[in-house]
Amino acid sequence: MKHLVIILGDQLDPHSAALDGFNPQTDAVWMAEVAEESTQVWSHKARIALFLSAMRHFAATQTQQGRRVIYHALEAHDFGDLGAALAATCSAEPPERLIMVPPGDERVRQRIVTAAAGLNIAIEWREDRHFIMPRAAFEQWANGRQQWRMEYWYRSVRRATGLLMQGEEPTGGQWNFDAENREAFGAQGPGWLPAPRKFMPDALTQTVLNLVEHRFAQHPGSLAFFDWPVTPDQAQQALDDFIQHRLPAFGAFQDAMWQDEPWLYHSRLSAALNLKLIDPLTVCRAAEAALHQGQAPLAAVEGFIRQIAGWREYVRGVYHQWMPDWLDWNALEADTPLPAFFWTGDTEMNCLHQTLRQTLEYGYAHHIQRLMVTGLFCLLLGVRPRAVHEWYLAVYVDAVEWVELPNVLGMSQFADGGRMASKPYIASGQYLDRMSNYCRHCPYEPKKSTGANACPITTLYWNFLDRHATRFAHHPRLGQQVRNLNRKTDSER
Ligand code: FAD
Ligand code: SF4
Repeated sequence: MKHLVIILGDQLDPHSAALDGFNPQTDAVWMAEVAEESTQVWSHKARIALFLSAMRHFAATQTQQGRRVIYHALEAHDFGDLGAALAATCSAEPPERLIMVPPGDERVRQRIVTAAAGLNIAIEWREDRHFIMPRAAFEQWANGRQQWRMEYWYRSVRRATGLLMQGEEPTGGQWNFDAENREAFGAQGPGWLPAPRKFMPDALTQTVLNLVEHRFAQHPGSLAFFDWPVTPDQAQQALDDFIQHRLPAFGAFQDAMWQDEPWLYHSRLSAALNLKLIDPLTVCRAAEAALHQGQAPLAAVEGFIRQIAGWREYVRGVYHQWMPDWLDWNALEADTPLPAFFWTGDTEMNCLHQTLRQTLEYGYAHHIQRLMVTGLFCLLLGVRPRAVHEWYLAVYVDAVEWVELPNVLGMSQFADGGRMASKPYIASGQYLDRMSNYCRHCPYEPKKSTGANACPITTLYWNFLDRHATRFAHHPRLGQQVRNLNRKTDSER
């Protein structure tokens, strides 16, 4: 064999550079299912099933296209980890060279590099064309800057791609329409919501669901609601459905939450994007086209494109710049264990109950639920950041480390001391009361910080400020909150 083309579970890009120049006479595609990828964190069953199903669909397509695929299925043999599986293939049939695009997870990269070195086989690394910007572009942008703020990176992506640009100027004369994008639903709630397109399991997915239910029976989460896109074609249908039915209201309600409504106006595209079933520029261009065709307002389209061309590309950049140090940062010296109810949803705090229940049912929560419910609670309580990271990596179907880790350790837990976010995202229960109807169904009172029925989020909010008062007393964006704390009576404090 000449070239063995390694394709990982989150590299299912049919146009991957790793497949360039593939010679069916001498080359093979290599894919492996190994237990470690499901057990190194206690993965949600739907997350495991999504990866395995999408991998098997990808392999089937490659075979149909005439490529030889060496595929290690879990049922056939479990090699334990990717390095061992690769060593088994290469010992049986040594290739001259391995070809792949860099893994998005540092741990996996190390596994492959170590295995290849042990086998004495060179790896040819190819650029990952899935992303809008090459990795080197982020390094160049970051080089010499004191602070790497997402907003400025986002503007550079807009300039480089022409997304929402009119010449040198941003479309509509503004880079950012956040001020129009922070609405709550009001007392009546969202009313009728367009249900997102669902993808019922085909025979291949059903086999995987049975495998996961049996083999990972003790893992958290449910498979009962599994309807995620698992092929590029389905990902495209999910995109079309979002653009047509939910994009117009996406901006206005992207921060809003509502009891028993997991999807609202969100796209549900993160998992398909992260497995590389669809590429981010295609998604952004589709949103931009909706603007030009008068299907969606600028604020919604800009808000959506910022999440992908801005945040998603940015977190990829910072992940690779700061790994592996990220994992050990703990700027606020938080060391409380993760509460056990995070794995069951069994709590009276309704905001947490709703978000956790939905997470365990679908492997999904939207951004504000992740940031301002589960993330906020862990931050205020002082949970050890690494435990928080491992939970997020386990329970979401879209969780791959390069995107999950910066969002959790940087954005939500402030473990990096402000390298990524300029302030910790803290709020009292009143914020949640404003942005959702969770408090109306909760035994606690969001306004109360002490006494009977005091909202634990509100109590912990003041407690957080009290614990970190010295650190944040002169912070430009938190100083005022510390001064509010100082107005409280001693007994209340
Ligand atoms: P939409 O709300 O429709 O947004 C559109 C797309 O924008 C998403 O599909 C996603 O690709 C991208 N996006 C939005 N926000 C972000 C962000 N902050 N960073 C990167 N991309 C973003 N996203 C993941 O893909 N995987 C994760 O493991 C993950 N973990 C997170 C953990 C925390 C604590 C927080 C606060 C956010 C996390 N996010 C993660 C970002 C975001 O919450 C999800 O991308 C989003 O909720 C996915 O749902 P959606 O596809 O319906 O997104
Ligand atoms: Fe959450 Fe407090 Fe509101 Fe209850 S009252 S839902 S605990 S914020």
